[in-house]
Amino acid sequence: MESSRYEALPVNIVKEYAWCPAHAWFSWNGPKPVLPGFSRVPRGNLDPLEAKLILERLGHRGHIIMEAVLEDEVLGVRGRVDYLAEPDNGPGAVLEYKFRGIWGDAEIVQTALYTVMAEHRYKAAFKGYIVSVSGVRVITEEEKREGVRLVYEARRAIEGPEPPEPGHDLARCRACVYRRICPWPGR
Ligand code: SF4
Repeated sequence: MESSRYEALPVNIVKEYAWCPAHAWFSWNGPKPVLPGFSRVPRGNLDPLEAKLILERLGHRGHIIMEAVLEDEVLGVRGRVDYLAEPDNGPGAVLEYKFRGIWGDAEIVQTALYTVMAEHRYKAAFKGYIVSVSGVRVITEEEKREGVRLVYEARRAIEGPEPPEPGHDLARCRACVYRRICPWPGR
């Protein structure tokens, strides 16, 4: 499929790409799923006071913005992070809350990208955190580099003519909203 669009990629598309490249291709090019999909799980809220206390405990006392919109013209991505603490005598911070208490590669890529996007916007160092009931996961420098690399890889893949090969096990396909039209499940 030829794509004539050139617009900032939603961070969620890169996140989906990390989870399943074919899923990201369908989200970008394909029909709207009739059921809730990977990127459409309901958002859980972390109480703003709790977010503030967590960020303070982690050493971030800058002004906090809830649902901070980030647009990065250099990377060509846009998104909205749950909480952003502006730099204040030290690095700023982004905090993604996962209310289901789990995270994997896709959530790490998402939060790593928000961290890099915040660094570009503020021209300052930022730390990235995934927070859930099970604790706090700190994003590494290597993960930030990998997040940036995946932006370019994801854009190439979703602008390709066919859904790219997923390269993951089939357990993921069982509940996928694109299963009926995807050429890859069942292998
Ligand atoms: S069916 Fe499987 S391979 Fe196809 S988009 Fe869904 S998760 Fe990816």
